[in-house]
Amino acid sequence: MATMYYDDDADLSIIQGRKVAVLGYGSQGHAHALSLRDSGVDVRVGLAEGSSSRAKAQAEGLSVMTPAEACAEADVIMVLVPDHVQRHLYAEAVEPHLSDGKALFFSHGFNIRFGYIKPPAGVDVCMVAPKGPGHLVRREYVDGRGVPVLVAVEQDATGGAKALALSYASAIGGLRAGGIETTFTEETETDLFGEQSVLCGGMSQLVMYGFETLTEAGYQPEVAYFECLHELKLIVDLMYEGGIAKQRWSISDTAEYGDYVSGPRVIDSRVKENMKAVLEDIRNGSFADRFIKDQDAGAPEFKALREKGAQHPIEATGKELRGMMAWVKSHDSDYVEGSA
Ligand code: NAD
Ligand code: MG
Ligand code: MG
Ligand code: MG
Ligand code: MG
Ligand code: MG
Repeated sequence: MATMYYDDDADLSIIQGRKVAVLGYGSQGHAHALSLRDSGVDVRVGLAEGSSSRAKAQAEGLSVMTPAEACAEADVIMVLVPDHVQRHLYAEAVEPHLSDGKALFFSHGFNIRFGYIKPPAGVDVCMVAPKGPGHLVRREYVDGRGVPVLVAVEQDATGGAKALALSYASAIGGLRAGGIETTFTEETETDLFGEQSVLCGGMSQLVMYGFETLTEAGYQPEVAYFECLHELKLIVDLMYEGGIAKQRWSISDTAEYGDYVSGPRVIDSRVKENMKAVLEDIRNGSFADRFIKDQDAGAPEFKALREKGAQHPIEATGKELRGMMAWVKSHDSDYVEGSA
């Protein structure tokens, strides 16, 4: 069984006694910075001079400065810029200010696990990784709840790294829901595997294949959209509440029988073999290498794939149908339809 932590296991005053820099103000960055501040923590946001996020952070009353200034002032530095940007920002703005006794925090272990960032021996290296998107992390905090977090210590230079990580996790509401102890290696490999095989990659492909199969057989795209995408939320909500069992309890016996009979036909044992190959590419670093090399070249592969995804006919059908469903609203005011 995993080791779990709750608010009672953390001393909030530890992080309240430190100076925290949050680098980046995107999905996770805004959630961490605002919730740390609301928990009484001395927080500053590090953003480049020209960053469009600056105005948003300032409008919330947060102190905004350059990443280098933030790292010079702070003794706890949380890196929340995109994973492929982190090592550049680290070299330019973080490393010069990483004196002994400071702490370097991440919400995903990518750069540490694959060796793109190698912190000096004198600093604590910790992870507090919410298991949900940043906008939900913030919403839950405001509502008095929290999103569960993974907590890990890669390097304990001061002897206080774990207590510090738990204190930080508590300040963003994560220990209201619960923290699970892990390692940078386990978090990185399982996070990449989950998003590639099941949550994002697997799910998107499953939905697109379902939509293509129905429309190619002559069914109306609007009807195919409802069956293969829209209703997914209702199913996922049931799984979220009570596992696969609750989903099967709620659906008709017809649907449940079809689940047993056709599920393993669609997702057969070859899919599991494919998943094992994806996991192997994650563990041997070849996925990371491909991603970082493409990003360093200006992301030609990434941009082409993003464009191809946006052109899939399911997107045009969905845009039209969501216009008919006033109750299907984005909770996220900064989401622009058509942006990735
Ligand atoms: P994001 O893409 O939403 O935002 C990153 C922010 O970094 C931007 O808003 C901007 O302020 C800044 N930024 C972007 N490009 C930059 C550049 N070139 N130079 C300097 N600053 C730049 O990032 P995110 O999704 O919040 O991810 C941050 C970290 O949190 C990553 O390590 C990610 O794996 C991890 N994480 C994210 C989520 C999530 O909900 N998105 C969940 C768990 C962990
Ligand atoms: Mg994840
Ligand atoms: Mg991830
Ligand atoms: Mg149905
Ligand atoms: Mg039933
Ligand atoms: Mg994105």
